[in-house]
Amino acid sequence: MAEQAPRHPSRFGVLYVVATPLGNLEDFSPRAVRVLREVDLVLAEDTRTFGKLAQRFGIQSKVWSYHEQNERVQAEKVAQCIADGQSVALTSDAGTPTISDPGFRLVAACRAQGLPVVTVPGPCALIAALSISGLPTDRFRFEGFLPVKEGKRREALAQALEETCPTIFYESPHRIVKTLSAIAEMAHDREVFVARELTKLHEEALKATAGALAEDYRNRSSIKGEFVLIISGAPKRARCAS
Ligand code: SAM
Repeated sequence: MAEQAPRHPSRFGVLYVVATPLGNLEDFSPRAVRVLREVDLVLAEDTRTFGKLAQRFGIQSKVWSYHEQNERVQAEKVAQCIADGQSVALTSDAGTPTISDPGFRLVAACRAQGLPVVTVPGPCALIAALSISGLPTDRFRFEGFLPVKEGKRREALAQALEETCPTIFYESPHRIVKTLSAIAEMAHDREVFVARELTKLHEEALKATAGALAEDYRNRSSIKGEFVLIISGAPKRARCAS
């Protein structure tokens, strides 16, 4: 039997938080496509990027831009549309909206007004990387992007090296060598996992000591793509006998 669109027995619309592929379009779930086709309004971080997906999957819904710069203004406006009965889908350029992406203000505004918020889950780079890392997953920390300023960056890395669970960062191709070198300087033998271009043609995943990975990346003539970096947890210290 065909699935029916979720019904909410209220006069309000619904905010759907819809994950989109990280790269491989086969990861776009049938439910995500259906919801995007059915809603009154789609919010897209970059309307041109969404336009390509929309064209490929026959999505003809109205699209508004929703990004970091207009988030404050749009959140109130969109929450009002939902309060007035419209259904809205929040998307981002890739992966799960609100995870190192705009959207949290809109979700918070809807929740504050008692408006329905529904997840249409799917790809998320940090979970995709962690799940293939072979590192323990029962506890982990996600720190998003490292600070750009050197001092704060080192502080964040030092903190990660203290933790007994894996710490996950998003990283850019311009800074990956610098970051790996800094980790290697602080903890040469700590196990690190680097995932690049997940689900894409040049997908690559490497697990080695920080020292070995820093050297590998330093020796590359060009570095392209998107990265997830995971620093394994510090060994638990034996308790002192009292
Ligand atoms: N909301 C997204 C998610 O669910 O993962 C993350 C958005 S954040 C602005 C973009 C960062 O996610 C990239 O700079 C990179 O660190 C990571 N990322 C996104 N796609 C990736 C991929 N295919 N492979 C590796 N990392 C990726």
